[in-house]
Parts: sequence; structure tokens; C-alpha cells
Amino acid sequence: MAVNGKGPYDPQNIFAKILRGEIPCKKVFENEWVLAFHDIAPKAPVHILIIPKNPYVSFMDFSATAPAEEIAGVMRAAGEIAREQGLEEGGYRLITNAGPNSGQEVPHFHLHLLGGKVLPIFAH
Ligand code: ADP
Repeated sequence: MAVNGKGPYDPQNIFAKILRGEIPCKKVFENEWVLAFHDIAPKAPVHILIIPKNPYVSFMDFSATAPAEEIAGVMRAAGEIAREQGLEEGGYRLITNAGPNSGQEVPHFHLHLLGGKVLPIFAH
């Protein structure tokens, strides 16, 4: 069921468990701000999830409450990961689902990095 993107942070969500090392992930990048790993159900040849190490429920929460330094750190990491994955020439998509209309399922803010093929245009 889609989450509302607000409200209290649930420390039992699956990405919190990955951050604590309680369940495994296929890590591709880590620095002081983020952990990034392969999506378990990839929608493109490259489908990586980039998550802040700190507990934000969604982009609504992150954009409103994270310190500017952390917002910059997360966004810069996303660009660095895309570059490392060799996606700059072909291009890529960076998206985040926030709240029920978006279909957000995991209540820990994350960016989806998608690339490696021509991506379908969204329905609006
Ligand atoms: P949606 O499932 O609609 O894309 P989200 O934006 O919340 O909603 O994305 C959650 C993503 O997390 C999904 O792409 C899903 O495949 C992925 N996912 C769920 N569990 C794991 C896991 N254990 N390891 C890696 N990716 C996971």
C-alpha cells in the first residue's frame, strides 16, 4: 500500500533495515550522506536507489527539514553515481515518489536512478 510520505519515521521500514545492515543489499556507493544500491526489481538496465543515511520519510520531509549541506551532499552523490555508472553520455532519469498519488511504497526518502536504455515517457 502506498505511504503518505509524511508522519513519523518508521524505523522498521526496509531501507532502515538495510542501513543498519540487518538485511543485505547490492551496494554500489557509500559516503557520509548516502548509501546507494541496486533495486531488487529493476525497471531498466541500471536501476539504483540512493538513500540518505538519516531518517526522512519522503522528499516532502527531506526538502523541508534537512540541512542545506545534507541536501547538497545527497544531490551531488546522485550525480557522482550516475557518472560512475557511465550514464552521462546516454542520459538518465532521477525520480522520487512522495506520497500516495506517486505510489511511494517504502517510507524512507529515496532517489531512483534509471538508465541504460531509452526510458518510456511517463503518463501525466
Ligand atoms: P515503488 O515500489 O512504487 O517504486 P518506491 O518509490 O517507494 O515505490 O520504491 C521502492 C523501491 O524499492 C522499488 O523500486 C522496489 O523494487 C525497491 N525495493 C524494495 N525492497 C528492496 C530491497 N530489499 N532491496 C532493494 N530494493 C528494494
